[in-house]
Amino acid sequence: HKDGHYLWVQSSGRLVGCDDRGRPARAVGTIIDITEVKQAEMRRHQQQELLNLVNSVQRSFLIDRNIQDACDALFRPLLKITESQFGFIGIVRRGEDGQPRLEIPSISSLDASTAERDAVSTGHNVVLTDLDNLFGQVVTHPTTVLRNAPWGRNEGGLLLPGQPHLESFLGIPLSLNGQALGMIALGNRLEGYDQDLMDLLQPLVLTLGTLLHARELEDRRLEVEAQLKRHATQDTLTGLYNRRRFFEAMGDQLLQSRRYKAQMTLALMDVDHFKQVNDQYGHGGGDAVLRALADVLRQEMRDTDVVARIGGEEIALLLTCTDVDSAMAALERLRLSVERMQVPFDGEVIRVTASIGAMGWHDQLRDAAHWMHCADMALYRAKAGGRNRSEVDLMA
Ligand code: GH3
Ligand code: MG
Ligand code: MG
Repeated sequence: HKDGHYLWVQSSGRLVGCDDRGRPARAVGTIIDITEVKQAEMRRHQQQELLNLVNSVQRSFLIDRNIQDACDALFRPLLKITESQFGFIGIVRRGEDGQPRLEIPSISSLDASTAERDAVSTGHNVVLTDLDNLFGQVVTHPTTVLRNAPWGRNEGGLLLPGQPHLESFLGIPLSLNGQALGMIALGNRLEGYDQDLMDLLQPLVLTLGTLLHARELEDRRLEVEAQLKRHATQDTLTGLYNRRRFFEAMGDQLLQSRRYKAQMTLALMDVDHFKQVNDQYGHGGGDAVLRALADVLRQEMRDTDVVARIGGEEIALLLTCTDVDSAMAALERLRLSVERMQVPFDGEVIRVTASIGAMGWHDQLRDAAHWMHCADMALYRAKAGGRNRSEVDLMA
């Protein structure tokens, strides 16, 4: 121990003299200060550990694509290497108001009393929205914040549940092209934080920045893909499935039911005298009716039913695992709900009725088109019989 610093020494010696009773009395030897050698050795060891960490983070991110798991796996070794008592890895996300917030999937609340326990508490997604403090500066500016002094209670240093009081702190932004995508926070290192440690962490900081960027690109790509898929299968006016998706679903369902012999019913619904609605209220009025109709369909039908707008005011329904009797009961309920529907438009209320034709799946049906034709015949009978009714084709 010298001037408050620890030294590493190596000493060796030998006995050179004894007293008259033969007990050791004098020794000579050397004590060498090997602090520098020792520190370099420890540093190499730390660097190696850190590189292993970088590798494993990359691997875990590439394999499971989950940055949260990658951060969790990284966390405990990071605390150990940096000799920190506390820390987290935060990810910057924009809220709905466009303001950045910090999502923290991984938090360690290790302090002296819980040191024996698991250092990393996972699964708690803490979100920090108030970044207007020294803490938040790391990502808002973005800049490294290093402070080897205790934080006051109102300095924004005590934000997280279970966080120990901060005696020292290092916050490093994870950024790419000057934009912060996240941050590493470390706290309460006995000897404080310094440039050496920051240098040591540099490879990890660069890697995490790149991974966060890659993840963001991936998220955006998935979002665009999902949007394209929605547009390809969804009717934009009503949000119901479109014609294409309905025939796909029908094909899938036919395959399944041939295998499992499940009962199912196909129904066609057509709004009565819809042309008159358009004539009286304009196209906008007609559209409002179609949207309201879609809402009623979503309310009345089960999630397992496939409901699609297959033409102007024509709806097709595929009721899975439903025999024709239960299907007719459900369709009658639906018809009555349509009859009760009151669609506000331009200060007025539009009311409509609908006709429904249904056909249960039958082994004698050749294919989807044949099935569709039979349901259409039933619909025709409902129209011819006076409309606002449901009919079933019993396949004579
Ligand atoms: P019916 O009782 O015999 O079914 O009489 P209808 O007037 O409903 O007759 P039909 O089914 O032949 O007419 C459908 C009308 O629906 C024709 C068209 O003007 C209107 N239509 C089709 N697509 C849309 C749409 O997207 N929006 C609106 N507002 N009207 C549409
Ligand atoms: Mg029609
Ligand atoms: Mg019609």
